Amino acid sequence: MNDKYNCECGSNENLFILYDFGLIPQVNNYRHIDEKGDIKKYPLILAICNSCKLLQLTEMPDRENIFRNYDHYSSASANNAEYLHSIAEIINKRHDSKKIILEVGCNDGTLLKSLDSKHSIYGVDPASNVYDKNINDEFTILHEFFDIKNIEKIKSMIEKPVDIILGINVFAHNDSYMSMFAAVESLLADDGYAHVEVAYAADTVLSANFDTIYHEHFCNYTLTSLKNTVEHVGLKICDVEKINTQGGSLRVKIYKKSSRHEPLKNVSNFLEKEDRLGINDSNFYMELASKIDKKVETIKSMFTEKYFDDDVLILGSPARGVITANVCGFDKFNKAIAFDDTEDKQGLMIPGTSIMVHKPDSINYKKYNVACLLAWTYKDNIIDRLRNYGFKGKVFIPFPKSEYLII
Ligand SMILES: [Zn+2]
Repeated sequence: MNDKYNCECGSNENLFILYDFGLIPQVNNYRHIDEKGDIKKYPLILAICNSCKLLQLTEMPDRENIFRNYDHYSSASANNAEYLHSIAEIINKRHDSKKIILEVGCNDGTLLKSLDSKHSIYGVDPASNVYDKNINDEFTILHEFFDIKNIEKIKSMIEKPVDIILGINVFAHNDSYMSMFAAVESLLADDGYAHVEVAYAADTVLSANFDTIYHEHFCNYTLTSLKNTVEHVGLKICDVEKINTQGGSLRVKIYKKSSRHEPLKNVSNFLEKEDRLGINDSNFYMELASKIDKKVETIKSMFTEKYFDDDVLILGSPARGVITANVCGFDKFNKAIAFDDTEDKQGLMIPGTSIMVHKPDSINYKKYNVACLLAWTYKDNIIDRLRNYGFKGKVFIPFPKSEYLII
């Protein structure tokens, strides 16, 4: 038991350390080949609160450094942009009348732009560098952290209670997560709801798919821990859906506790299923370390250790891939290169390695007969493209099951 870390739920008990990944660089710290000095690395330690069952990191590098000048653009990945459009479509179809909508972590405005223009649309995001200035006049954006400390600034921007708060893969990304949900409670109209999506811990890290664990991803929610967290600040979960994004995610609708909306039966069914799985039992988490160790060793022995001196092609360099690369020894590759669609990563090295990222259509695919799909959540799309580029050989897929695909 560690004596340093406590949970925001207010439990007297300290967090229980489950797995120490060692020192890991920040996933967006891409560097030029001649950048001198060692890359800065931070502890990455996964722990659990035995009271609210929230899987969380013990610490996070300063969020000002991570999010004020953010290196992730929602529109940079075509797959991601398409996904955000599909969320906007859900909202557009559901609401005929004009609503006040606020997106938390609106990034470059990809989702906001797809919302029906009859709505009053607002955004909050600490990073002002990523926002598309061309649409600045269309929507009102506050460049601040979304939390209860900034609630007056947020309220003075909107002036009325909010009908719909959207948070797509942002509510797990902060060590002040309780304060974020408190802000939701403070802003929502009596009938309003928050549409929140977070990676689902039971499909990801609890199944040893550890590549969702990185510094930005402070919380790893099950429905049980998400329910405990939101109830702490006067909210309730009324609807839940399992979706496939990010290797498995939860999509929930959250209302104020005082709202007339009652939780649907699917919420209690889902919670019962988690209980049967062992989510409420502390012993359930005790095997996690050995499961993760086994997974790391499998990736190393099946892939990394075989190809130190070979021409290796790394397919995609998403945030999750940086974790796999660092935990599974990709710094030892001498002749590996990567491809990624994100222009800002091209010409730079994957953090913690000397693997240079290239533009996909600039690579001589005939030179390579072994590849590794770090961006495995886009498997079908990337494998199709690889075939079209003329690659022939073996593709190692690290998650969810480590295996080779011959193409
Ligand atoms: Zn807790």
